[in-house]
Amino acid sequence: PAPLLRVEGLCQYFKTQDGRTVHAVESLTFDIKRGHTVGLVGESGSGKTTAGRAILRLLEPTAGQVFFNETDVLSLPSKEMKRYRQKMQIIFQDPFSSLNPRMRVSQIIGEALNTAGYPKGEARKARVEELLQRVGLQAEHADRYPHEFSGGQRQRIGIARAIAVEPDFIVADESVSALDVSVQAQVLNLLGELQRSLGLTLLFIAHDLTVVEYLCDEVVVMYLGRVMERGPCREVYARPRHPYTQALLSAAPVPDPTRKKQRIVLRGDIPSPISPPSGCVFRTRCPYATALCAAGVPAEQHVSDEHWVSCVRLHELNLQEQGRHDNAHQ
Ligand code: SF4
Repeated sequence: PAPLLRVEGLCQYFKTQDGRTVHAVESLTFDIKRGHTVGLVGESGSGKTTAGRAILRLLEPTAGQVFFNETDVLSLPSKEMKRYRQKMQIIFQDPFSSLNPRMRVSQIIGEALNTAGYPKGEARKARVEELLQRVGLQAEHADRYPHEFSGGQRQRIGIARAIAVEPDFIVADESVSALDVSVQAQVLNLLGELQRSLGLTLLFIAHDLTVVEYLCDEVVVMYLGRVMERGPCREVYARPRHPYTQALLSAAPVPDPTRKKQRIVLRGDIPSPISPPSGCVFRTRCPYATALCAAGVPAEQHVSDEHWVSCVRLHELNLQEQGRHDNAHQ
């Protein structure tokens, strides 16, 4: 079956005040199967949040296509786009600033129901209460204001607002990053449970790889606006092929102590997206970079099934790794 969402060659550039171009997202391509959760990961400055907004057309992308149910939503006139908006929702990062402090919870969720043409009156009140209970809050909470809730509860209100209009697809943008670890786990469980019971398709944007592994089916790893590696989580996490993914994973805490790993420390900082390195954008920090890496942007190489890696030295590095592995077993 066709994926619910297919992103093809998506580019998002911005102009700085002095007329230079920021390459925030460059040639982003990946897809999400219906009912799947894809994690979009990278450090800050990788372009992941911009990508999430460009996909929902909260920004006007510079180039590329976003097919939702095989319709290119980027080419739709704004009137038609309205219909799609309802199907594609977002849960923002910051539960403290994404809810209007002057509105009661019933109004916040009611506003979303308004845009979906939901009838007013008792039926709407009942729907708001049902949504609150669905996200683990109480019906009585409908009359309260956002400041009366904790961070985790506010994020639950944000989730209730997103699911109110019965979307097919939700972008969760760093939706648990601002919360304490114990609260994070509860909100993640809620998202996972809603995804399964409502058959949602999710794009989960995060910098935390452990969280992505817990929740997602596939992962897309971004660096400086470009995709470095993408594929099924179980495969990418068990055997990351791109040097950047290897470095990210080597720095993440491992829940499973039998998975041995050696920390790979990257030198320097992420370069500016105004003047990204030529060729492989990761080459200024990559421990394996050679002159070859500056020659051109690496094409995506097929590793297996739906696993793709953008590295010109992929096969060479694999052979080296294989050699080390073989030696260790002799
Ligand atoms: Fe490193 Fe070169 Fe591969 Fe880029 S192309 S990840 S610089 S080895």
